[in-house]
Amino acid sequence: MIAESSNSRTASFTSDQAAPLAGHAFTTSVTKEDLGRATWLLLHTIAAQYPANPSKQQRKDVAALVDTLTRIYPCGECAFHFQEIVRRNAPATGNAQELQQWMCNVHNNVNRSLGKAEFNCELVDARWSGLDCGDDMACDITSRMGRGFRR
Ligand SMILES: Cc1cc2nc3c(=O)[nH]c(=O)nc-3n(C[C@H](O)[C@H](O)[C@H](O)COP(=O)(O)OP(=O)(O)OC[C@H]3O[C@@H](n4cnc5c(N)ncnc54)[C@H](O)[C@@H]3O)c2cc1C
Repeated sequence: MIAESSNSRTASFTSDQAAPLAGHAFTTSVTKEDLGRATWLLLHTIAAQYPANPSKQQRKDVAALVDTLTRIYPCGECAFHFQEIVRRNAPATGNAQELQQWMCNVHNNVNRSLGKAEFNCELVDARWSGLDCGDDMACDITSRMGRGFRR
């Protein structure tokens, strides 16, 4: 059961419900900063693994993801702000480098509006290098495409 108070959420579970959570420390409250860092992690990692020659579907998917975030991002003021940024600067989905630079620029837009330092977009490759799967091909989105994902 999750009990809500005016500014915090606490969780209590029966022993049956809690069993699968053993060993996992967690909190039910997520701050705007947690959400932002997690979302940028996802977006920059997608950009880092985006193909050099994306299919039409991949280009549509990235544009749709960004467009969807401008409406359902769970922080309303952030979603609205992001909508304004994206309206002035449509996602560049032509290839990996374009998308990485676009992502870096829109992230810098948000940084600026929050009074934070800008990130040097020449270093974006070094900061975001994609998911580390070792030798596991599960990370390679082009291999998934090969198994019928490509449209
Ligand atoms: C779409 C979106 C809109 C947001 N809008 C708002 C808003 O309106 N108001 C608000 O308060 N918060 C907003 N946030 C959250 C905000 O951007 C930060 O995520 C949050 O403040 C935490 O900041 P941080 O300093 O920990 O690092 P973050 O900005 O979350 O960055 C995480 C890491 O990314 C790297 N990084 C930083 N800048 C760049 C860049 N330009 N390119 C590549 N890598 C970079 C750095 O290594 C950094 O540590 C938004 C987040 C998202 C995803």
